[in-house]
Formats: sequence, C-alpha cells, structure tokens
Amino acid sequence: MATERKLGFNTLQIHAGTAPDTATGARQVPIYQTTAYVFRDADHAAKLFNLQEVGYIYSRLTNPTVSALANRICALEGGAGAICCSSGHAAQIMALFPLMGPGKNIVASTRLYGGTITQFSQTIKRFGWSAKFVDFDDLAAVKAAIDDNTRAVFCESIANPGGYITDLDAISKISDAAHIPLIVDNTSATPYLCKPIEHGATLVVHSTTKYLTGNGTVTGGCVVDSGKFDWAKSGKFPSLSEPEPAYHGLVFHPTLGAMAFTFHSIAIGLRDLGMTMNPQGAHYTLMGIETLSLRMERHVANALKVAAWLEKDPRVEYVTYAGLKSSPYYNRISKICPKGAGAIFTFALKTGYDGCVKLVDHVKLFSHVANLGDTRSLIIHSASTTHRQLNEAQQKAAGASPNVVRLSIGIEDVEDIIADLDQAMG
Ligand SMILES: *Cc1c(COP(=O)(O)O)cnc(C)c1O
Repeated sequence: MATERKLGFNTLQIHAGTAPDTATGARQVPIYQTTAYVFRDADHAAKLFNLQEVGYIYSRLTNPTVSALANRICALEGGAGAICCSSGHAAQIMALFPLMGPGKNIVASTRLYGGTITQFSQTIKRFGWSAKFVDFDDLAAVKAAIDDNTRAVFCESIANPGGYITDLDAISKISDAAHIPLIVDNTSATPYLCKPIEHGATLVVHSTTKYLTGNGTVTGGCVVDSGKFDWAKSGKFPSLSEPEPAYHGLVFHPTLGAMAFTFHSIAIGLRDLGMTMNPQGAHYTLMGIETLSLRMERHVANALKVAAWLEKDPRVEYVTYAGLKSSPYYNRISKICPKGAGAIFTFALKTGYDGCVKLVDHVKLFSHVANLGDTRSLIIHSASTTHRQLNEAQQKAAGASPNVVRLSIGIEDVEDIIADLDQAMG
C-alpha cells in the first residue's frame, strides 16, 4: 500500500472533517437542525454517556454540523482535537476552564484584542482567576511573571490592533520550561498565515467570527488542542489528570490520550457552561472557510499596498504594519507567518484624536464598525470605541493611542481602498 499523502491546505479547507452524508449522499455538510439524537438501545446510551463510544447525545455537547467545522479547523491547525463554541470570547473561557481554579492566574500579553483585555483584567476575577499583563517582547519579564499559581501563558500570534507579531518560539520555550501550556489566539493570522502549534502552542483559540467565516455573518469560536501537553506531569491540572468528580471520577488524562482536553471540554465544559455553537452558525463558517486561503492572499496583498501608500503620505505620522520593512517585527514574518503579516494594522494621524474622528466620519467604502476580518474594508478608532474601557496607559500598551485608527483591509480593488482613505483624510 502506498503511504497516505498529506493533503495541502487548499484541499483541507474544503474537504477536512467532512464526507458525503451517509444517510442521503448530500455533498455539502447538512445543517443538522436537531437538539437530540435517538439511541440505538439502552446499552448504546450508556456507552455514549461513559465516553466508551463516540456519538451524539444532545446538541449542547456535540452536533454533526458543528463537529464537521471543529474537525476542519483542527486539521488546518494541525491539532489533535477541537471544539467550537458560541463566540471567540467563549472559546477563551473554554480554553482556560479545565486549567484554572480560584487563586490561579494566567500570564498574558499586553497586546491583545480590547475585549480580551477586559475579559482577563475584570471579568475572570469573578471566578477567582486573574491575569498578569506583560510585554511579550520582554522575555525576562514573561519568565518572571510565571509563579506557582500560573496555569497558562496567553498571547495572540499577529496581535490586535495590529502591526505586531509575537515570537511564539521564544515564548513557548519559556512556557515549556515552566511546564505551563501556551494558549495562542490565532484569529488575526488564521492557520493559513500562522500555525501556532508548530511554534510550540498547546492550545489555539479562534474567533471564527472573523476571517474563518470571512463575511461578517455569525459569531463563533474554536479551541484546538495540540494533544501534546502532558497534563499529569506537574500535578497542576487536577481536573484533567485526577479523578474528576464532575464526570463520575473519570481521569481524562491519560485515559483519553491526546483527546483528553477535547473530551473534557465537551463532557464538562460545553455540558455545564453551555457556550455552544449552533449548527446554522457552523454552516456559515464552513462555507466561508472553503475560500480562506484565497481570501487571505488578497487580504495580505491589499494590506501591504495600503500600508506602503500610507507610510509615504505626509498626513500620516506612522504606520504599524509588520509587513513593512520599517517595522521592528518585519524580521519575524519569515519565521512565524511566512505567507504574510495579515491585514489588520494601525496608523497614526498627525491631526490627532480629532483627525481620527473626522476620518472615520468621512470614509465611504470603509465601514466604521467594531469588527475585523471581513471581506469588506473596515475602520475603527480604537481609543473611542473598542479600547475605550482601558485607561490611557493600557491603550498605549495595546497600540491604541488616541491618534491611532485601526484598519482591517478587505479584498476589494486596492485602488478603491486607497482612494477612499485619501479623500477621507481630507
Ligand atoms: C474578535 C476577537 C475576539 C473575540 O471574538 P468574538 O467572536 O467577538 O467573541 C478575540 N480575539 C481576537 C483577536 C478577536 O479579533
């Protein structure tokens, strides 16, 4: 027998996780709009509940349409297992949930999506969790921030609101040495541009709301597990490595091998937290993901041209796009995201806060929205919107100073994108 060929990214984004429907032959993944699934008999039901047999019980846990999407994203990221959830923010909680407990903390990058900074600095405190924010370019500071109660290191690959690429290899060396999992939010890069697991990530989280769906229709999230982390080694992850009272004493790791985290996330996380993706939402994302590589190529090509144009414009103070040679992170592209530095970046206007407000009020092609990763070009003034809840020091640390606007470059004709910015800058 010939050895099985490894399929390429373009093939996987269309075929992974799916096969023609066995019941009907339907070629496209059907939307299984059902809450529950009929058991063959009482023995079958018991085996499903014992995780002795894999199958469908109830759609809060698993659903065939949602599973198809989870398996496809898992294949694109090169993971062992994945679960989908209702939003990117839900995915972040779902990634942390099996690891954390009251009094435990995470070490997180200062360069994160604004909503994530709020989730980590405020909301998770209600669970008794906390986050320490560190500049991830300061490797000594990352190392020093990890203490006995640290249960994860968290960063974005290409970080929001733009222009920054995390040195994932350097960070994963630190988390590995401390026997702590590294969680990477790969939303802005997508697995087409960056494969965090190849750079040492334990878990990859996504807001599928963005590029994976691609057209701004649904919110969703995903957690991909590399299957490589030894949850038992340090004794710090008892929910995974010791008898789990929430699931009749099952020891997930090593019983379920590389699928321990994924099964825990389904059997306990989705079961009890209920942050489930719905099958309609999964359908939209499955449709979008089929063209991910094509869209990302155009997004990156357009972003590079727009950034280069802006950098030369006298009205612009600076542009933070890692794809520009002027960027201090330019040399990380070949290592971390060889197909390009994404399509989200910021630039600063010499006319300050007021100039930014004027710009967002005068664009015609760009949409002024709190979103990114759409086929359409999007613009937002972070300081007055997404990063409004942060103080000025946090805004600055997150790259969202008052005179800065964030662009998410779409896949329109690049000449039209540039012309729109040109007229709106006045
Ligand atoms: C949008 C986004 C999130 C949050 O995702 P939702 O689907 O809006 O909950 C998290 N991280 C990044 C990088 C994002 O862009």
